[in-house]
Amino acid sequence: SENENLELIRASLKTCPDFPKNGITFIDILGIFSNPAAHRALIDLILTRIRKLDTKIDAVVGLEARGFIFGPQIALELQIPFLPIRKHGKLPGKLVTIDYVLEYGTDTIEMQVDILKSGAKILLVDDILATGGTLGAAQKLCAKLDYNVVETLVIIELLGLGGREKLANVDHFTTLFQYS
Ligand code: AMP
Repeated sequence: SENENLELIRASLKTCPDFPKNGITFIDILGIFSNPAAHRALIDLILTRIRKLDTKIDAVVGLEARGFIFGPQIALELQIPFLPIRKHGKLPGKLVTIDYVLEYGTDTIEMQVDILKSGAKILLVDDILATGGTLGAAQKLCAKLDYNVVETLVIIELLGLGGREKLANVDHFTTLFQYS
């Protein structure tokens, strides 16, 4: 059941105080993937949510790095393309690029062009929504290519960091767990 799946996944999450620096509580999701039952539960749960949507998804777009672990599996199950968004300097070919503001300084993410048709309906995935800077920028990056992000999905939403305020189309934001 959905609740059993959620419990299996929750039991695989670890909170790591003061990592990578003092005052940050890092949430380690990688335990999901070292437990095949939790891994299966995650993929099934996401597929169930996505299949309930009114809109048919044309492609999954995943964010470096942990959006690459489960994004392609969702795409494969749905038999649609997977496209990666990477940090600057990693992707070859013609790219679309966006800069965004971090707590200290800025960062740049990129995606290859000419893979999907303009208007393609996208499911955007990452592991965690924290300040929302990364996913907000990823939504804008998709918009630059005239892709239509119809659903944005994360495993975990960290509350109290204003993440949702940075997202467009927040009525179509799915999270499996919330942490405060
Ligand atoms: P943000 O742009 O602040 O929403 O965070 C972007 C990325 O940083 C997310 O995709 C996560 O992979 C990672 N991240 C941020 N905060 C945490 C945290 N507390 N634990 C684990 N990963 C995090």
